[in-house]
Amino acid sequence: MAAHNAIAPAYEAVIVGAGFGGMGAAIELKRQGIENLAIVERTDGLGGTWHVNHYPGLAVDIASVTYSYSFEPNPYWSRLFAPGAELKRYAEHVADKYDLRRHMSFGEQIARAEWDGANSMWRVFSDDGTERTARFLLTATGFLSQPHTPEIPGIHTFAGRTIHTTDWEDGHDFTGERVAVIGTGATAVQLIPEIARQAADLIVYQRTPIWVVPKLDFVIPRPVQAMFARVPLTQRATRLVSNALLELLMVTGVLHYKQFTFGNKAAAALAAAHLRRQIPDAGLRKKLTPDYDFGCKRPTFSNEYFTTFTRANVHLQDTSIVKVDPDGIITADGAKVPIDTLVLATGFDLWDANFPAFEIRGREGRDLGKWWRAERFQAYEGITVPKFPNFFTLNSPYSYSGLSYFTTIEGQMHHMARLLREVKRRKAVTFEVAEEANTRFLEDVTRRLESSVFYNGDCSTSRSYYFNHAGEATLLRPRSTAGALREMKNFPLSDYHFDGPTPWSGAIANPAVGR
Ligand code: NAP
Repeated sequence: MAAHNAIAPAYEAVIVGAGFGGMGAAIELKRQGIENLAIVERTDGLGGTWHVNHYPGLAVDIASVTYSYSFEPNPYWSRLFAPGAELKRYAEHVADKYDLRRHMSFGEQIARAEWDGANSMWRVFSDDGTERTARFLLTATGFLSQPHTPEIPGIHTFAGRTIHTTDWEDGHDFTGERVAVIGTGATAVQLIPEIARQAADLIVYQRTPIWVVPKLDFVIPRPVQAMFARVPLTQRATRLVSNALLELLMVTGVLHYKQFTFGNKAAAALAAAHLRRQIPDAGLRKKLTPDYDFGCKRPTFSNEYFTTFTRANVHLQDTSIVKVDPDGIITADGAKVPIDTLVLATGFDLWDANFPAFEIRGREGRDLGKWWRAERFQAYEGITVPKFPNFFTLNSPYSYSGLSYFTTIEGQMHHMARLLREVKRRKAVTFEVAEEANTRFLEDVTRRLESSVFYNGDCSTSRSYYFNHAGEATLLRPRSTAGALREMKNFPLSDYHFDGPTPWSGAIANPAVGR
């Protein structure tokens, strides 16, 4: 416990990341009476994924009625699957409505954070040397936030334009160009049809095919939007239906594969039928058909992706790339295709550059990243870690409840509320999850995952980011959405140690500004 003449931290809380996770956490802190907080964001705007990504075709792939805060419904989504720009506007609206902007600091990358036990506070350092002290540290740095550029020999020697999907050049005109896209993940599935409409030639380099199911997308007519606005219950009901469908497809069939193999197979059959309907050529169909089970890797939704490959200007290349030359790409069969522009739809680095996104040292100098790698990835209820007092890690192992990121965030908000209320009730200065509780949670998720497609299905060729380097599927929380929410609202408070009373001589009174 800290000495009584300890220094008071400048902030009650520092949140790293101004995406929907960080904003949700800030909203919860404010509900708990914590106004003196800083939200530090490395990019130049808020919205996280929806600020960074603005490639053509970007849209949510979870129906918008579900992919939004349940306490802040937006009746005005233009489509069932809203385009990315609407998500960005929604993020701006949330920041304004909940008065979050004044806490935000942009263009500042956090380099490291360490627990200062003598003063019971976090010291948080930016790479420009700025130091903040805070009672609570919250990391909301996202899962899919560190762009991955593949180590293909010669890739940096390419003399044409190289564009990563997370660094899109708005307005880039592909008309008349020979374009290569590397990658066939969810991002590529959205982008490829758009580029195909402009490019003279588009060559898609596929290493692993993706399961694609039909997208039941449509414009939400104005009168329906007006009804959602006037009678919010109608939108809530629509959300429930959307949640239930997603739960079946994305959660039950994946996490309870052993019990619901038929459901999983039905989803694969739906995707296969979709492919058959859209691609008459059996050879092309075979190339586009995954050889791993549905759900090993995140499936996606599209009505346009497959048909794009029937266009005369689009070519699917599944021979592996061996080299990039200044003017083109060489594949293992020795063929070289000259290109003008190289588009990298190569996704994100989850397990090396993330978890955590910067160095975090807790009590006794425990280094979170090293500890996770040495002792298995773990976090109690996907949010707290032993030896890391007053720390909420929002993008943790086992935190993602497979339905929608918003379910994850809201579950975490419930957890924060319950815990912070108890801290206040006890007049404690720190909370820390008990080792035994953390171990019990880890054992529980490990046991539950035994039923999942990850360990019962055939995932060996999926190259899925759900798996870490040790081959463990430590990203998703193996619970139904309702089950995860229930746990987040009712976890035993005895799973935490609380320490206090407040050691600081003065109050934490600095104004709530970014720096
Ligand atoms: P991703 O799913 O990780 O896909 C990356 C693609 O790049 C894969 O096809 C991968 O092939 C390929 N790739 C990587 N390195 C390669 C290499 N060295 N050689 C050849 N190919 C290589 O990333 P993403 O498409 O950006 O999607 C990530 C996630 O973002 C999605 O699963 C989804 O959750 C989310 N997302 C959501 C939306 C939305 O909601 N609107 C849109 C886009 C993305 P392998 O599979 O063989 O590794």
